[in-house]
Amino acid sequence: MTKKLKNTCVNEFDPDALEEEKAIKFILNSIVAKKDKERLPIRNTLGRVVGDNIKSKLNIPNFNNSAMDGYAINIQLLKKNNYILQEKGVSLAGKPYSKKLTSNIAIKVMTGAVIPNNCDAVVMKEMVDIKNDHLYFPKKLEKNQNIRKIGEDIRKNDIVIKKGEIINHSHLGILSSLGIKEINVMAKPIISFFSTGDELVSMDTKLSKGMIYDSNRYILYGLLKKLPVIIKDRGVVRDQEKILIKKLAYCSQKSDIIITTGGVSVGDADYIKNALNKLGNINFWKIAIKPGRPLAYGKINKSYFFGLPGNPVSAVVTFQLFVNLAIEKLIGIKENKYIKLEATTTNDLSKKKGRVEYKRGYFSQVNNENLVSVSGQQGSNILTSLSNANCYIRLDSNVSKVKKGDKVTVIPFNLKI
Ligand code: AMP
Ligand code: MG
Repeated sequence: MTKKLKNTCVNEFDPDALEEEKAIKFILNSIVAKKDKERLPIRNTLGRVVGDNIKSKLNIPNFNNSAMDGYAINIQLLKKNNYILQEKGVSLAGKPYSKKLTSNIAIKVMTGAVIPNNCDAVVMKEMVDIKNDHLYFPKKLEKNQNIRKIGEDIRKNDIVIKKGEIINHSHLGILSSLGIKEINVMAKPIISFFSTGDELVSMDTKLSKGMIYDSNRYILYGLLKKLPVIIKDRGVVRDQEKILIKKLAYCSQKSDIIITTGGVSVGDADYIKNALNKLGNINFWKIAIKPGRPLAYGKINKSYFFGLPGNPVSAVVTFQLFVNLAIEKLIGIKENKYIKLEATTTNDLSKKKGRVEYKRGYFSQVNNENLVSVSGQQGSNILTSLSNANCYIRLDSNVSKVKKGDKVTVIPFNLKI
């Protein structure tokens, strides 16, 4: 195994922190997308990444049909009959009227029913007066009104779902409407994670002074569970180089990505740095963001490695900004940028220049105005301000003070629907 520190644009613990975008670029450039696919029945593909462009073999709708309950007519015949016709048959959804429409006839149609031959409009039943077996039609009519045309939703040979999209409930509807029972999806990559720290104890143990329960493994589980990946929780590792090397070597045989938390800040980084350098190519970065300044990124054997900070809020933010993108690239998920909104802050905000800051906030819309308030104390150990948040307030690197009433950029999450 090589003992080599990769020569990147920023060397280990460089006092000049690396910009967020540069770190993202570096990570994305280094990741090679996986190619493995598996074929699954469509219901099992929910949340999975589509492996090939999916083409339609049908038109949807497959026949002209009625958009309303009403009467199918021929406009010319209706005019000839002075807008008065007689009902001579019914076309129900699934039970078409098979004869051709002639002379003074209208056919009753239900929503979704086949439009009978020679009909060119459907009139809603509410618009038609019925007196003594005669139907009295309105004079204002348009050709093709209330008719759903063949192929108006999907045409034969259209690409209906693109490679890289994530299957959702609407996709299941489309696939089933096309009679597609199975599709290829990208295989789930294996993501291993473990926490590091001598202070971490199992929840079965009573807490003694200085010890804490591990939050990060549960947080990572929660973050990863939303993604099409196989999650491997590899437990807790003590702050010892030897044990760490063993664990990382083991994980690197069995994972596409390894995530650790803790042990990457300057204070206690030596043992993790040494361990990682013995195993693979690792870059230690200070990234110009808050929370989440320290980050280790590299490769151990065939596994990509992310060493996230130990503070839970920093671990979440660095996961969302960096690891998430890496996973998306690895399984070929189509680029999906997060949404940014503008909102008026209800608090004075301050920060140091030189770092982008992601404050935790609560976003609301009051009388059509976007408002945002900080959701609690902003320390990177304060998990409650994250659990009470529904957005990040993103303050640019060059910003130092923001006054109550100023506009800020907000990145919402956990939005309804
Ligand atoms: P470190 O990055 O190891 O220096 O840890 C920074 C802070 O995060 C310390 O207060 C740690 O106790 C805390 N911490 C590290 N790992 C975890 C974890 N898995 N769960 C909760 N807190 C942690
Ligand atoms: Mg630690």
